Amino acid sequence: SSTPIKVAVTGAAGQIGYSLLFRIASGDLFGPHTPVELRLLEIAPALPALEGVVMELLDGAFPLLDSVQIGDNPEKVFDGVNAALLVGARPRGPGMERRDLLEANGAIFSAQGKALNNGAAEDLRVVVTGNPANTNALIALSNAPDIPASRFTALTRLDHNRALAQLAAKLHCPVRELNRMTIWGNHSASQYPDIFSARRGEQSISDLIDDQHWLEQEFIPTVANRGAAIIAARGSSSAASAASATIDHLRDWVLGTPNQDWVSMAVPSDGSYGVAEGIVSSFPCTAQDGEYRIVPDLELNDFSRARIDASVSELLEEREAVTQLGFL
Ligand code: NDP
Repeated sequence: SSTPIKVAVTGAAGQIGYSLLFRIASGDLFGPHTPVELRLLEIAPALPALEGVVMELLDGAFPLLDSVQIGDNPEKVFDGVNAALLVGARPRGPGMERRDLLEANGAIFSAQGKALNNGAAEDLRVVVTGNPANTNALIALSNAPDIPASRFTALTRLDHNRALAQLAAKLHCPVRELNRMTIWGNHSASQYPDIFSARRGEQSISDLIDDQHWLEQEFIPTVANRGAAIIAARGSSSAASAASATIDHLRDWVLGTPNQDWVSMAVPSDGSYGVAEGIVSSFPCTAQDGEYRIVPDLELNDFSRARIDASVSELLEEREAVTQLGFL
């Protein structure tokens, strides 16, 4: 009955894509009554593999999946899309310096920003999962001058979910009892998972756990290094949880966050909490009627302030590097 939503996914033949596409097709992103049209972007060498994924998608016989188009031209694939999940990014290869990585991804995300600017739908919403996600989002929005910057976001929801999982394990409680977790800053080792506003039900976490050693030596490093732990255990990266978090991010943005709770999203800074404008940094956000809002007026202690400032400095360095490369 409702109009289909056109959803673009890049890097669609990759590991995250393999999990993500089936979740979107089954209705996990926009709910059980909204049909979707998938538009899948890949680099040319990955198109044959992507054709195999499309066969599997069709074989899912998903009632909500109206159509699937694939291609390697962002202008064509992004034409008229309402949502873009930018997953594909250049991984760090052997001998590649950080500068090489920023350069390769700068080329990808500036081209994709331009293509979205030229052809996406008026209500476009973008989430960048491909790393370095925050700076890739900044590059895309800078190359899409006709789209409000606020429509470009990056994924820190996986870090948020990992933090909830660690806290639930510590408190021996289900994740659903926890609320108001926050990830601040960059989706990188410098991210700051902040439990000082978090609660179990209505009880403050700081009252339940008063253990700075656990916070600094266990909780924060475990959350920040979880990706590496999964690679070590599984022999490949954390693709299903990254896909799941990407769904969570966009679904909550579009359909809204629960009352009394918030989520973490990397969004263009409006200067809130002293975070410099002109970067895409993670904040606590609520969403309603398809618009997110940074949660105002939280108190930050000195420990939190220092951690946030350190992650923001890293984002400013990344911005400086891509500015010098000419992508902004
Ligand atoms: P994945 O699908 O595993 O990962 C894709 C991106 O997501 C990477 O940048 C990865 O970062 C990032 N990521 C973010 N969070 C996580 C997480 N928790 N765990 C793992 N990755 C995370 O990579 P694949 O190599 O399997 O697939 C990438 C696909 O993208 C390939 O098929 C490639 O052809 C395609 N691609 C498409 C482009 C395009 O459409 N124009 C451009 C470039 C590539 P990290 O590298 O840090 O792990």
